[in-house]
Amino acid sequence: MSRGRAMVAIVIGSETAGGILHRVFGYDAFRGEQSEIIDHVIGGGDAVVLMPTGGGKSLCYQIPALARPGTGIVISPLIALMQDQVDSLAGIGVRAAFLNSTQSAEQRAQVEAAFLAGELDLLYLAPERLTMPSTAALLDRGRIALFAIDEAHCVSQWGHDFRPDYLALSMLHERWPQVPRIALTATATKQTQEEIQQRLGLKQAKLFVSSFDRPNIQYRIAQKNQPLKQLLQLIREEHPGQAGIVYCLSRASVEKTAEFLVEEGIHALPYHAGLSTPVRAANQARFLREDGVVMVATIAFGMGIDKPDVRFVAHLDLPKSVEGYYQETGRAGRDGEASTAWLAYGLQDVVQQRRMIDQSEGDATHRRRLSLHLDAMLALCETVQCRRKQLLAYFGETSGDCGNCDNCLNPAESWDGTIPAQKLLSTIVRLERERNQHFGAGHLIDILLGRQTPRIDQYSHDDLSTFGIGSELSEAEWRGVVRQLLAQGLLAVRGDGYGTLVITESSNEVLKGTRRVHLRREPERIKTGKSRKVSSQSAVLPASAEPLFERLRNWRADQASRQNVPAYVVFHDTTLRELATRHPRTIDELRDVTGIGESKLERYGAELLELLSDQSPAAAIFN
Ligand code: ADP
Ligand code: ZN
Repeated sequence: MSRGRAMVAIVIGSETAGGILHRVFGYDAFRGEQSEIIDHVIGGGDAVVLMPTGGGKSLCYQIPALARPGTGIVISPLIALMQDQVDSLAGIGVRAAFLNSTQSAEQRAQVEAAFLAGELDLLYLAPERLTMPSTAALLDRGRIALFAIDEAHCVSQWGHDFRPDYLALSMLHERWPQVPRIALTATATKQTQEEIQQRLGLKQAKLFVSSFDRPNIQYRIAQKNQPLKQLLQLIREEHPGQAGIVYCLSRASVEKTAEFLVEEGIHALPYHAGLSTPVRAANQARFLREDGVVMVATIAFGMGIDKPDVRFVAHLDLPKSVEGYYQETGRAGRDGEASTAWLAYGLQDVVQQRRMIDQSEGDATHRRRLSLHLDAMLALCETVQCRRKQLLAYFGETSGDCGNCDNCLNPAESWDGTIPAQKLLSTIVRLERERNQHFGAGHLIDILLGRQTPRIDQYSHDDLSTFGIGSELSEAEWRGVVRQLLAQGLLAVRGDGYGTLVITESSNEVLKGTRRVHLRREPERIKTGKSRKVSSQSAVLPASAEPLFERLRNWRADQASRQNVPAYVVFHDTTLRELATRHPRTIDELRDVTGIGESKLERYGAELLELLSDQSPAAAIFN
């Protein structure tokens, strides 16, 4: 907070937003709608901003907070990340602080005094703190530049991160009607957007909706057969030594997966709500600070994690909604470099999720909502179309085929599965009508394949007229049929906890022949890793620049550990890459490098020039 403070405070006044972007953040140009949003808020307008993860939301309130008199108040649910956010800002000379329950009374008193003295550009608060009378009284006594409501989808019950404390934020407008408000989220469905506008009293606010496409992320959904092996292959073949997040549904599978990866020599750590707070904090810190850590986690992990170089996000279990899935996968590749979103999915996932919905607490409306979310997720898994096209369509965007998803890279065929579906459904109907029996997928497939298992003998199921009529498909193909019928609502899981299958109303249309069933056939070979798209900001590092890049990385790691901050707080990879390829020789040349603003120039400039001059081609020959 000390360095650069005077500098920032003096220059601001008549400086343009673009000037602040360059001087403080070290960037050349605004991205997407940043410029319009920033001008609107600097001018005192309210805004609702929908932008994907990595789109650059933070600048949309940080620059107006610097440009307007007073302190920008940022409401954020991410208490565990406030320290990193404040450290990051301090690193570029912005005067930021937070107030939350992790602080001592004395620390809080210091922050409050700084706020009242007008010495803060940004103040981060958790929503529950804001609604305390003492906090409101404090804010009344200082000068407020704006309110930024981060992760604004937390106000929505439709969404996946509902926080009751967010509902109270409607009071902001009532109590401080003159102060502009900007609500930001990376969750983009129409329902969520409308709930944000309505519940936060932002119906009059200007709405800024960006494209949600993340072209640098390759989307892939694989059939689950040996998930741990499949995961290991993904890491070893495509992302060795790189940072990633693996999402699992349960604590137990988090533990099991992390142990497996560690045994296989991968630097993996677990994260779930069953671990003690210090262990969770320590694992999160290692993920942020060390290079190439794989975090195996439940969805409790990840919101607000702004580590830019997460190279892959893997899901070992089916996410409950497309929103959640997109939000989680969006944590990959914030730096715009090529990244992978990989999901393994199988019959068991569908059975399990349907059962969880049946058994969930809450009323029929709630269960129906869960069911709609699951259906959309299943449709994404089973589509033969471009995954990205379908994802974006879910968020109301139209687009062409992307060329960077599994379905584009290895087109899957669609086939007419009406006859196999009829065979399966009539087996279920016969068992029920003729024998009053119900079974799960495994036994039904045994019947169709005409297998003489002990259970078939026990029940004399070889007497059924459908016994052995399904030999045109393999067992794996039959499992695919069952899974897809479940996904399409043409089969249901009975709520008995055994995964037994029953027909639905729509199944009758198939049995009568009035409805055809279209199924997806898995492509034989899976090509991956080719034709990766990366965003225009990223560059490929020439081999000659690699040694210098490595030296810069080591230097950065050393800086980060001395300051006890994540490496990206010192510099992003993009900045190191530019340094390694452009070889700046003077302070002025350094100033032109992305991510080097005045504060970092002052702090690291001389050291960097020395390090770079050591690496001049001439010096390299003699080393
Ligand atoms: P979000 O909050 O939308 O997920 P961030 O605000 O964390 O995204 O920004 C994502 C990354 O892009 C950050 O590393 C940020 O520094 C960088 N960034 C944002 N805006 C720009 C810009 N105009 N030029 C260059 N980099 C930018
Ligand atoms: Zn595609």
